[in-house]
Amino acid sequence: MKHANIAVFVPHNGCPNQCSFCNQRTISGASKQPEPSDVALACEKAMQGGCEGADVQLAFFGGSFTAIDRGYMLSLLEAAQPYIKSGFLNKGIRVSTRPDFIDDEVLSLLKEYGVRAIELGAQSMDDSVLSLNKRGHTAQDVENASKLIKSYGFELGLQMMTGLYGSADEDSIDTAKRFILLSPDTVRIYPTVVLPGTMLAELYLSGEYKVPSLDESIELCSHLLEMFDKAGINVIRLGLHAQQDVCENYLAGGYHPALRELCEGEIYYRKMKYALEDKPQGNYEITVACAEISKAVGQKKKNINRLSDLGYNCKVKGDLRYKRYELTVKR
Ligand code: SF4
Repeated sequence: MKHANIAVFVPHNGCPNQCSFCNQRTISGASKQPEPSDVALACEKAMQGGCEGADVQLAFFGGSFTAIDRGYMLSLLEAAQPYIKSGFLNKGIRVSTRPDFIDDEVLSLLKEYGVRAIELGAQSMDDSVLSLNKRGHTAQDVENASKLIKSYGFELGLQMMTGLYGSADEDSIDTAKRFILLSPDTVRIYPTVVLPGTMLAELYLSGEYKVPSLDESIELCSHLLEMFDKAGINVIRLGLHAQQDVCENYLAGGYHPALRELCEGEIYYRKMKYALEDKPQGNYEITVACAEISKAVGQKKKNINRLSDLGYNCKVKGDLRYKRYELTVKR
C-alpha cells in the first residue's frame, strides 16, 4: 500500500527552551506559523496530487505540537476534521512533541481530534546529556510520557540524537536499549549537525565541543540501526532531511543526504567481513536479497574495495528468497 504523508511544519515560535542544537529556521527553511487555512490547502493539494488508494496521514512536525498555544493547536486540528470525516485522511494525524508536554488532558483531546501517532523528541536517555544540551526534561519524563501514550492506544514514535554535547557512543547505545524497553512503534535517529546560531555552534567554534564526523556517525548509527532491526522496531528516518539550507549552512557533523544507505552499507560490510574472516583469501560470491545489492556493494564499491584490501575478491549477487541483512558467501 502506498503511503502519503502530508507534512505541515509548526515552528514553536517563542519557545521558552533553548535546546543546544535547535535553530528551527535553519531546519524548516521557514519560521512562519501555518494558519488553519494552510492545513486545508495542504490536504486539498494532496487530494489533487493523486493519493487515491494510498494510506494518507497528516503530520504536524516541529517537535512541540502540544506545547504551542492550546487554542492555536486546536484550530489546526479542527481544520483537518473535514478530511478525516470524508475518509481522505484514512491514517489520521501524526504529531511530534516534547515528553514534558504530555498528560491525560492533552491525550484525550488528541484522541478526540483523530490523532493516531505521537512522536516524542527524547533525544537521549542520559540525564546529564539532556541537561548539558538544555532540553528541559529528564529521561523519566520520556518513560512516563511513552507509557501514557501507549495506554491511550496511540502509535508511539521516539526520536534520538547521537553526538550531542557531553555524549559518547555508549550513551547512544544505552538510549537505544532503553527505547527498546519502551516498545515504540517507530524510531527516528538524528546524528547531531551543528547549525549556525545555536549553542552548539558557539561550543564548536570555541573548540569546547567536537561533533562526531560523518564517518563516526555512520559507524555508530549502523549499530543502532541493527539493534532496532533485531528488536523488530521500524526506524523510519535516519539523518536530517536533505534540504538546501541545511546542506549550504551547516558547520559540521554527521550530515549526508543518503545517510541511511551509508549506514546499511556499513552493516553489510561488517557481516561480509565476519562471514569471510576464517576463510582463505581468494575469490568469493556473496548472495544477498535482490533489493540490497547496492548496499552490500557500498557507495562507489566501497565495501568491495575494502574486502579486496583484505585479500577477498568478491562479487555480489541477488536472490529473491533472501531477507534484508541475510547473506551467504561461497567460493
Ligand atoms: S528543539 Fe528545543 S528549543 Fe527548539 S523548539 Fe523544540 S523545545 Fe524549543
